[in-house]
Amino acid sequence: MEQETKRTVQIKLRQTPDQAEEIEKLFLAFKIGLNFCLEEIEKAYQKTAGEYLRVKDGEEIKGTCPGCHKEKTLAYRSSNKMYCSSCVMRNFSEYTVRTAIISTKERKVEHDLKDAVQLENQTHFHMMFSQAYANWKSFDAWRKKREYERDNLKKELSDLEKGKETGKVIAAAKLIWKNAALICLNNEKITRRNAMALASKDVYNLFPDIVPRDISRAVSKIRRLNSLSRPVRFPRYDAVQAIQIHNNFVKFKEVKLHMSLFYKKKNQQVMDFYSNKYLDQFLSAMEEDNEVYTNLIKRIDGKKISYYLMYPLTVKMDIPTIFDLVDVFTICFSPDRVLVHCHYNEVNGNGSGNTLKWYKLGWLIDKKTHGYEKRRELQEHNTRNSLRRIKKMGNAEQRTTRTFNHQLSHNIVEYVTEKSDNALIVMWDISTGITADYGRKLNLAKKVWPVVQQQEFIKHKAFLRCVPVKLFSYKEENNLRCSFCGKTILKKDELGKTTKDPIKTITAILRGAKNLKCEKCGHELNLLLNQARNLSKLPLSEENKK
Ligand SMILES: [Zn+2]
Ligand SMILES: [Zn+2]
Repeated sequence: MEQETKRTVQIKLRQTPDQAEEIEKLFLAFKIGLNFCLEEIEKAYQKTAGEYLRVKDGEEIKGTCPGCHKEKTLAYRSSNKMYCSSCVMRNFSEYTVRTAIISTKERKVEHDLKDAVQLENQTHFHMMFSQAYANWKSFDAWRKKREYERDNLKKELSDLEKGKETGKVIAAAKLIWKNAALICLNNEKITRRNAMALASKDVYNLFPDIVPRDISRAVSKIRRLNSLSRPVRFPRYDAVQAIQIHNNFVKFKEVKLHMSLFYKKKNQQVMDFYSNKYLDQFLSAMEEDNEVYTNLIKRIDGKKISYYLMYPLTVKMDIPTIFDLVDVFTICFSPDRVLVHCHYNEVNGNGSGNTLKWYKLGWLIDKKTHGYEKRRELQEHNTRNSLRRIKKMGNAEQRTTRTFNHQLSHNIVEYVTEKSDNALIVMWDISTGITADYGRKLNLAKKVWPVVQQQEFIKHKAFLRCVPVKLFSYKEENNLRCSFCGKTILKKDELGKTTKDPIKTITAILRGAKNLKCEKCGHELNLLLNQARNLSKLPLSEENKK
């Protein structure tokens, strides 16, 4: 079975000074244009939000919408008339705002973006606008999520305040918050953190009958509410790093790259690029598949500016049809070690059984924490000399991490290909879950854990060696489960009673837990190994699931 996989090939451009100037012109125009588009979209949104009011849940009525004259559920009120949600959304939809700021039918340069910026190609305007709209949408989703969380937290706190016992806890927490602010006001040198510690000490003595942990939990809730209540900053680009380019503007012909940049399409020019073995194998495929939208990326490293073309490519790859025949290599990650666990299949001539290989990351963690501490120390000094030294450090940690991860993923993929001719790599895709907030201490652990990059590199290197990779989503496999009896491990409350919430594997890993002891069957096993065993048991294809 051949499976099509999408990959992005990075092409480093070797531009002439003239071309560099033209690219810069394009980037500048995009910066102005994107900011302008973002503001226009937000303006349309705010105008709609001011005119139409969402009624409370349960107050929606059924009837004919005066906007579209259709029978619908009406949930928005504007000057005594009720509208349907699609009519309201239309006021700030991509199409509406686009037609308002870019002429869509006839070419009228004077009108495009109300003369904020001039571009020779109208297509650029459209690409720019869709880029801006996508950005605005993600901003809006984030803002909505924040508002939702804030309202929930507010309600939770006011509910707690009404309770007899919990009301006391909230009062104590509020007192800590107030006292810490007073301490900070009287003593400029004290840090916020120390002030909180001082204030908590006093308040804990004032309320001896409350468990201090309850108070500190309430304090962290108040802190979260405060940070959520701060107004959000509307995004503005200080610099643009990526530009979407239309498929007509980038063409591969006879191993040459033809691009049109700022000037008109007939000015299409041949652009030189850095080619290597890796890129050469894809060039013929790129000539065939010329109808793709690409991104132009700008990277600044010190004083050197380099431009990359991100070319998405559809590649066909052999994936074994019968999953029973592959040797499944499960890779599990934690901040201090990586485990490669293999379950051999007898058919492949390697015999049956399991192998384990551990990769320790202690060196990397030391380097990274040292870097963070050094930086913090210098920042606290806050002298001219220390600032100069911070500047000199640059992105040193980032570079060492990158090199380390390249070596690590290379070693892992080498190991896999050496051990089996018919391998399949299975990973637990943590990249989607790692954004979650795990509290102050765990967030720091998360920061020094470059797992996302490690997984990306392994995917990439496996692709080059034609080893298929299967990713399981973070949500599916996050609950901590015993691999012997299959029972989910549940949390315990203060009284030692188990609650319905399962413990999350990622939290346990971040906390630094090494082993898992199952209370049901009594087995004790390393946490990563447990996770690897769980993953290798999962059905590999959709058909097997049924
Ligand atoms: Zn309507
Ligand atoms: Zn068990």
